[in-house]
This record gives sequence, C-alpha cells and structure tokens, in this order.
Amino acid sequence: MIPLSQWIPRAIPGWQSRTTEDGSIAVTFDDGPNPDSTPELLQLLSELDLKCTMFLVGEACERNQELLSKIVSAGHAVANHGYVHRRHAFQSKEFVTESLMRTRAAIESRGCATMAPAFRPPYGSLDWRTGRLARRMGLSPVLWSAHLSDWRMRTAGDLLRVAQNNFHDRMILLLHDKPGCAVTLRPVLEHIRSEITRRNWRLLLLPEESSKRREVA
Ligand SMILES: [Zn+2]
Repeated sequence: MIPLSQWIPRAIPGWQSRTTEDGSIAVTFDDGPNPDSTPELLQLLSELDLKCTMFLVGEACERNQELLSKIVSAGHAVANHGYVHRRHAFQSKEFVTESLMRTRAAIESRGCATMAPAFRPPYGSLDWRTGRLARRMGLSPVLWSAHLSDWRMRTAGDLLRVAQNNFHDRMILLLHDKPGCAVTLRPVLEHIRSEITRRNWRLLLLPEESSKRREVA
C-alpha cells in the first residue's frame, strides 16, 4: 500500500520533481559520503565519464569533509538528503528546519562546495509541510522516476536486468552510495553510459532542469 505521504505530493503537478526533460536523464546517488564506498564510486564514475547528483546526509558530511571535497572537485552536484537518515514526513517543523539547515551548513562549511538547491528526504518521505519548508529555504523537492531496489542484496546481473527494463527518457534514477556499489552497479552504469551515447541523450545534474520544467508546467 502506498503511504499517504507518497501520493499527496504526486497529485500536485510541479510540486516536486520526478522526471527531467525530453532527451535527457539524471543519475542520482543517495546516502553518501561514505568512506567505505564513495572513493571507489568516484573512481568508477570518472572512468565512465558520468556526472551525477549526490544527495548527501549532513551528519556524514561533517565526518567526511575530505570526501565531500573530492565529490565536488570531480564535478558532481551535491544536494540535501537531511541531516540524519530518518523519515522527515510528519516530524516537527523544528526537526525539518534544523535538518535542512544543518545539512546545508555541513556541505558549505569549508567553502569547497555550494549545495545544489534540491532536497530529497530520506526514504522519499515527503509531506506537505516538509515540502513547503524546503521550498521556503529555496530547495526543490526531488524524488525519482526509477529505482533498482539496490538497497537490497541484489547481484550485479539482477540490477542490470532491472535497469535495462526501466531505462526511459526523462528518467531520474535513484541509486545508493553504499559499500560494494562500485562492483554491483558497474554493469548498470556502463549500460547508462552506452545508452546515452547511442541515443545522444544528455546527462543532467539536478535541480536546474527540473526547475525549468516547473516553470513550463
Ligand atoms: Zn537515503
């Protein structure tokens, strides 16, 4: 059953972003930075020349500032995934506000990074108030149009099959920066690289393009 917090925002066009523009996709990674996975992931993304949007956990940014700098200098966009990885829907106003503000401060504290104005709540747990608070802080709520359930224990072959079956125009793909991901997601990312090259699609960083689309809607 779909939680209430999931379907209410979806019913409002432009209230949050789930897709990009025609002829483009965006690849996003949640939950970093993680010293046990981010270095290998960055290496793989560099090898494949893929630029992604990383939705980072504020508390993890505070503990891994060097890694944060490496993500930014590699050309990836960094955005807000909350200060702790806890559901934000139906939390107090103070909790949500502090979560968003502390994460921005953690990302921007050393002056090496400017946070992209996008927010993806942990677990995609988004309600009206959380979305409204984010917008007041200039952050666009961004969810996704496809995921691979890569947070479960799945083999590289399984993940590739799901990716091949779900690859679509305007896709915002949700992936996770977690230990082992550079191995299990390698075939998926190779597939993405070859598909966007073959189709001549653009690989977008968020949220600029989704903002543009919202203006059109
Ligand atoms: Zn997450």
